[in-house]
Amino acid sequence: MRIQTLQRIGGLLAGLSCLMLGGWIILSNYEAYHRFDLGAHSYKRLTAAFAAANAISSERGPSNSAMGATPDNNELAMAALEEKRDATDEIVESLLAHFADELSEDASLRLELTALMNALSAGRSAVDAVAALPTAERQGQPITSAIESMFAAADQAIRLRDHLAQVVIADAPQISTEIVVATTASDLREFEGRLGSYVVMMLTSGVIEDVRHRQNYTHTRVRLSVLRDLLTTYTRAYFNSPSIEAVLARVEEDYFDAALGYVEEVALRHGPDNSMSAGEFTAAYIPMMASSEQLREAVTKAAEARLVDLRDSSLRTVVIAALLTLFALLVLICVAVLFSTRLFAPLLTLSDQVNILAGGDLEDPPEQPPPSREVAQMFASLGALRRQMREKQRLERDQLALTEKLQTLAQTDMLTGLPNRRAITDRARDILRTADRRNEPVGVIMLDIDHFKRINDNFGHDMGDMVLQLVARTLPPILRANDVFGRYGGEEFLAIVPNATDQNVVAIAEKLRQALEKIETGKDFKVTGSFGLGIRDAGSQMSWENLVSIADRQLYRAKSDGRNRVSGPGQLPPEAA
Ligand code: GH3
Ligand code: MG
Ligand code: MG
Repeated sequence: MRIQTLQRIGGLLAGLSCLMLGGWIILSNYEAYHRFDLGAHSYKRLTAAFAAANAISSERGPSNSAMGATPDNNELAMAALEEKRDATDEIVESLLAHFADELSEDASLRLELTALMNALSAGRSAVDAVAALPTAERQGQPITSAIESMFAAADQAIRLRDHLAQVVIADAPQISTEIVVATTASDLREFEGRLGSYVVMMLTSGVIEDVRHRQNYTHTRVRLSVLRDLLTTYTRAYFNSPSIEAVLARVEEDYFDAALGYVEEVALRHGPDNSMSAGEFTAAYIPMMASSEQLREAVTKAAEARLVDLRDSSLRTVVIAALLTLFALLVLICVAVLFSTRLFAPLLTLSDQVNILAGGDLEDPPEQPPPSREVAQMFASLGALRRQMREKQRLERDQLALTEKLQTLAQTDMLTGLPNRRAITDRARDILRTADRRNEPVGVIMLDIDHFKRINDNFGHDMGDMVLQLVARTLPPILRANDVFGRYGGEEFLAIVPNATDQNVVAIAEKLRQALEKIETGKDFKVTGSFGLGIRDAGSQMSWENLVSIADRQLYRAKSDGRNRVSGPGQLPPEAA
């Protein structure tokens, strides 16, 4: 399989894994973000429910003060109660506002809210009924009932609070502990209030009911100590926060040390001779519960902060995961493009160029986009190889030309430019072979310049050379294209005339002889030559050497017959020479 295909598949798989991993992180965190956002929304309602439960709970204080007021502070207590109720109403209103959209949809919520409103107004009516009595008659069962009605309203608020707490925990289980601690702190405040209310019942009751109130009082004390244990044991460990630590210490100090001591004292002192009014007790007791309220507020704030933190961190994770996924995908795409354009495509081009080079084409290839550094090095090496091959090719051409030139020189006579004796002999062998094959005759004309020595002696060696050159220029045009004419030695020349009859050869020799006579030297002498002919008949097996020797003997004869003449075949038998 090609590496490029593997790289493509690998890149695709890596991209897909990246997308899936990134997508999974983004989706799960977006879902978490969405849930935390919902949780934050329902947490606001829970906070409002906490505030409402606390307001209804703390309304019992002024209610008890009003019911247990003396004639001289009655009016003041009633005014304080009215003020407190207005504050409670405002808080309950803001709780209701949270449900404006959903009330019609959630039937159980609607029932709980209606029950809360009913319980609150029932409690208030009971309190109002007692407050309507002359101060001297306000005691015993009516007060107990009125307080218990207010307890019922608080219970209703607690039910609503717990319902909403469940909704938040379902959306954001991560803050369950905070919610449980906040609920415990809220319960602490509720039962601290109730303990006070039992003391008020004791203070305003007759002896007969006293036992029941004391029993409730004792139960509530036990409950408070359980709540205290829960809070001190787990809250410290879980939150590990100095501010919550400080509030817890205040609760310990203000309530479990000071308030409980005070309550115990008032409760024990209670008897027929007791001079403390419910109003007096309430006024002293209420401020001591403030730190428990602060504890609940601190814990709910911490929970809200944690929720916002969780939500924001989910959103952060979504953004970071999206950016990282995008970055990883971009890197993968860049790598794929780079590999393709700077490595694989140039490698294919390189392979083509190697093939072209192997095919013998040494031309420089056209310019191409820049490849990676590694491939560029390979191109550079290929370029060097190409240059080297070009240089080698040039040297080979030069060598060939030189060889050809040497060959020509070896076969050419330097003075006349005619084929030399070696060349004539080489050509003669080819011609004899062809004549044998075609069954044709071959003629040889050998000529020697007459008295050449005299020319040298009388006119100088240079004139001798010039005469040789004039001969070389004058005679070849007289011959046919297939005839051969060369310098055989000194002032001797030789012509090979293939496929010619005896008469033809004699005629050609005669033409040559006449042409010699006509050579103009510009000096006062004539150039003449003697000609000896040799004929190799068709079908004859005569060797080249024999043929030349016949012509040579005929030439000798021409010389001895007086020069400037042709001595043809038949005139002298070879044996006789
Ligand atoms: P014959 O008529 O008997 O042929 O007399 P000849 O003088 O031509 O013959 P000989 O053999 O006595 O002399 C040939 C001379 O040719 C001798 C030599 O110096 C001269 N010769 C040979 N080759 C060359 C050459 O290349 N240039 C010149 N200038 N002279 C040459
Ligand atoms: Mg000679
Ligand atoms: Mg001669």
